[in-house]
Amino acid sequence: MGTRPLLNRRLDGLGTTIFAEMSALATATGSINLGQGFPDTDGPEEIREAAVRALRDGRGNQYPPGPGIPELRQAVAGHQQRFYGLTYDPDTEVLVTAGATEAIAAALLALLEPGDEVIAFEPFYDSYSACIAMAGATRVPLTLRAPGFRPDLDELRALITPRTRLLLINTPHNPTGLVLTPAELAAIAGLAVEHDLLVVTDEVYEHLVFSGGHHPIAALPGMRERTVSISSAGKTFSFTGWKVGWVTASAPLVAAVRTAKQYLTYVSAGPFQYAVAEALRLPDGYFDDFRADMLRKRDLLGDGLAAAGFAVFQPQGTYFITTDITPLGEKDGVEFCRSLPGRCGVVAIPNAVFYDDAEAGRSLVRFTFCKRDDVLAEAVTRLRRL
Ligand code: PMP
Ligand code: GLN
Repeated sequence: MGTRPLLNRRLDGLGTTIFAEMSALATATGSINLGQGFPDTDGPEEIREAAVRALRDGRGNQYPPGPGIPELRQAVAGHQQRFYGLTYDPDTEVLVTAGATEAIAAALLALLEPGDEVIAFEPFYDSYSACIAMAGATRVPLTLRAPGFRPDLDELRALITPRTRLLLINTPHNPTGLVLTPAELAAIAGLAVEHDLLVVTDEVYEHLVFSGGHHPIAALPGMRERTVSISSAGKTFSFTGWKVGWVTASAPLVAAVRTAKQYLTYVSAGPFQYAVAEALRLPDGYFDDFRADMLRKRDLLGDGLAAAGFAVFQPQGTYFITTDITPLGEKDGVEFCRSLPGRCGVVAIPNAVFYDDAEAGRSLVRFTFCKRDDVLAEAVTRLRRL
């Protein structure tokens, strides 16, 4: 095969995702997996049954429509209206994707030219770097620093150049648990309007904001026509394996994203779309209970991690807690996470892998709390032996 590397230069260094590596390590060592963010309890039984019914009734067993089944597009539009007062036309302004992951990929591949700059908060969710690279664009990190992880908006302004095309934001933010305040969102929106930038916003944890609620940037003045909002059923309904996500945006933006999406997957799994349409119509009580339950788990794990000696950064949203391992006499999160299964049978994720500036995240380690209470309690018992 000659000497030329098989993997192209754009993907060089992206290797295996940290989630795959750490989940494999959890399986191989029989450890408690507080690494990859997936719940160990499935979502609502009635929604699971809705998927079974769709399969049995032959709904979605053949290619569903490219943009997604109408029932789901209507349910997504209804959800944006119910929770945020945002109006989207289900036919032209909603696109169903294979999880938020495909929505992110399709948005970036559709909207970026090679050489464009994308400003994103660092630590980045891992697929952002890969998709920006696949688009031939350049990522420009705005580093969020412990303890507060709040974005420095003057720094953001200073990062904008004539090549900047797009701001990629994520609130609530994985892995830090940062939730952007209305004032921060307004400042970001102001910069986007002033510099005529597109905004892609990853809101997969929209129903996991522990106080003050979720505020979509698309609702702010001047933002509707420049914002691609992304979410998915995986986190909100605890069915991460179903991979049903969606985009809401103006018709021209949806048309652009749909063009890329057509050639990535064409469509996503049919029967699950019927089930997710039902899930999005669950009463408010479902969403309130889900959040309250996760808040309780946040405190269960957070208190346990603090008792075990970690410095805990309280997340305002998501189901992740970022910690600092320095108080344990540790320095390097990657080494720590590789050794943790052997030392005490727990798996976590080193935040350093989400940074270009690895030093900024070197001693930070992320744990997820979307697990059963007994599993969290056992993990804490094990970690206290460190
Ligand atoms: N964005 C963020 C911030 C995430 O944490 C995840 C993981 N759920 C995704 C996107 C991907 O979502 P999905 O599983 O729907 O592709
Ligand atoms: N979003 C999940 C996390 O941050 C993982 C998803 C994945 O494995 N790609 O843990």
